[in-house]
Amino acid sequence: MNPGRTRNLPFDDGLQVLAPRGLKADRGHSYISLEKEAVALRRMFKIDLDRPIDGVALWNAIPYRLVSRVAGCAYHVDVDIRPLGNGRIGQACWDSAIGKFLISLTEDSYRRLELGQVWDLIHEIMHVRLHPRLLQRLKSSEYLEKAYNERFLKHSHRSSRDTEWQANAGAAAVIMPAIGICKLEQRVRHDELLLRLEKSFSVRPVIAQRRWEIYLKYKSDLLTVSAEVQLSKKLPESIHSSPWANWAELSSKRGSQR
Ligand SMILES: [Zn+2]
Repeated sequence: MNPGRTRNLPFDDGLQVLAPRGLKADRGHSYISLEKEAVALRRMFKIDLDRPIDGVALWNAIPYRLVSRVAGCAYHVDVDIRPLGNGRIGQACWDSAIGKFLISLTEDSYRRLELGQVWDLIHEIMHVRLHPRLLQRLKSSEYLEKAYNERFLKHSHRSSRDTEWQANAGAAAVIMPAIGICKLEQRVRHDELLLRLEKSFSVRPVIAQRRWEIYLKYKSDLLTVSAEVQLSKKLPESIHSSPWANWAELSSKRGSQR
């Protein structure tokens, strides 16, 4: 990849902290398409864009409110708490026996949820929302094994197509939506903003810092697409059918024409 060519595009810009390698996703995403998904997810759970997320309330509402669509069919999502092994703190998988997706957290990650740290849960929700077909194709053990193997294939796929990058960048957008940051920006002194972002949304400093950088870089596009989703009468169940889904590819083409 030529970093000079993609520097101005909303992906692949030094995401190592937030981008451990996963699998190649079926579709590419950009910060803009992920913002749309993030706003839609908050609407689905009726959580205002400037509010921190109540993790336990979200957990309890998942079986009733969260769906993920595959080929036009909406599938429900169950949750459970159990040991996962191999140092894993959360997992999203397809349970073919019950025909639902399943999000699991360990006791430790559930305890963090009770303390207001929602990152682990939102990351798994993003996998269910963004990668349902992939999850249906793979057993959970296969996902781990494949991701581990692909980590050693240099340049196997770019960040915009990486499942872990997508889940992380999407989780950051859900937890700290651009509209929420914008409202904070209007109330708080500039030099205090980063710390307030970190405290208000209960995220690690490195996550707040990265999200703040993304916000500054793509602010007007992020706010425009957020307003679009907020104003639309129909709640988008999934961005898969929207023109924004191809944003990454379109931007890539435009970038290479420069
Ligand atoms: Zn993941």
